Amino acid sequence: MVIPILDLKREYQYMKKDIDEAIKTCLAHQKWILGPEVEQLEKRVSQYLNVKHCIGVSSGTDALVLSLRALAIKLKGKEYFDKTDEIITTTFTFTATGDAILRSGATPVFVDIDPITFNLDPEQIKSYLTTQPVNNLTKVVGIVPVHLYGQICDMEEILRIAKEYNLFVVEDVAQAFGAKQQVVNGKWQMAGSIGNAGCFSFFPSKNLGGFGDGGMVSTNDDEIAELVRMLLKHGGKDKYNVDHIGYNARLDTIQAGILLAKFKFLDEFNEKRRKIAQFYTKELSKTENIILPSSIGYHVFHQYTIRILNGKRDTVQKYLKEKGIDTMVYYPLCLHQMKVFKERCKTLPALENSIRATKEVLSLPIEPLLTEDELNIVVNFLKDSINE
Ligand SMILES: *Cc1c(COP(=O)(O)O)cnc(C)c1O
Repeated sequence: MVIPILDLKREYQYMKKDIDEAIKTCLAHQKWILGPEVEQLEKRVSQYLNVKHCIGVSSGTDALVLSLRALAIKLKGKEYFDKTDEIITTTFTFTATGDAILRSGATPVFVDIDPITFNLDPEQIKSYLTTQPVNNLTKVVGIVPVHLYGQICDMEEILRIAKEYNLFVVEDVAQAFGAKQQVVNGKWQMAGSIGNAGCFSFFPSKNLGGFGDGGMVSTNDDEIAELVRMLLKHGGKDKYNVDHIGYNARLDTIQAGILLAKFKFLDEFNEKRRKIAQFYTKELSKTENIILPSSIGYHVFHQYTIRILNGKRDTVQKYLKEKGIDTMVYYPLCLHQMKVFKERCKTLPALENSIRATKEVLSLPIEPLLTEDELNIVVNFLKDSINE
């Protein structure tokens, strides 16, 4: 018996009727490029997030690249940022976050995480900003917070800092579709609706995943929306007479159709993930030598990630693998440790929390359709492995 971290076949069976119907509709109309489903999905998601614009793009990575390029054009009147323009983000994220910053022309500044939430620590952002010499040739222009594992960052504090230093904020929402935070009047604010733009991924394993690559940009800014729409189809409003250095970065009609069908299940599946998280937290609360994840705001548990102490993470993972239980290490390396970024980034001197996380984190099976029996097996073997 194998307990997978995710089981997309099981999910397809659960949603088969809706998905097959959506694909058949696309087969019938044959409007493969920017067909009606793309616009329908954009409308549906902008209502869900309560933002003015959503724009389908070809991946989460492209969502980030296009948003940052649009901001360079809007703020600087130039195609790309300059190397002296710095964008602060977390070093404990997927490569694409840092890669997109490089591809927009800017220099990534990698700072440390909060050890409880694994998210970008606002104190570290402040610490970088306040230690910059006055006559600096470089200038921080923006912040890219990543809502890691499905948990929203401390957006209130990040926005406060952004306002004080006149910085833009582009949210990396790739892992957090449906996550939200409660604001003063008791209302909820969705991840991706808070910064100048939000970047979503529909990579198959994300909380809303397609049958291939896909992504989306959300924004309340008309100018950013217009620029992203231009950039995703070669850089112009008119494809045969363009203004900017563009891309072919459209969201496929068929992906939009599948995503619309799956979108109906997003809240239900996020709730199922939260139930699994509650189960793990209850069952593992007394286990020694592990630290369980926090749950701040409405956490959508893209991953349920624990820390395993005493340097035993790799032995625990191996033990579980032998028992047929899949787990993952997100992420084994920080971005500032990778060759591509080493010579192209800036950092604060110590990134201890992030480096420690790369050695301790382990993500447990989170497939929303796992049964209680399967979850019990995970919990029991995990306890055994730690007591070994
Ligand atoms: C998945 C992911 C991305 C990139 O999304 P793609 O659709 O795979 O390009 C970016 N940032 C984070 C944090 C991710 O997890």
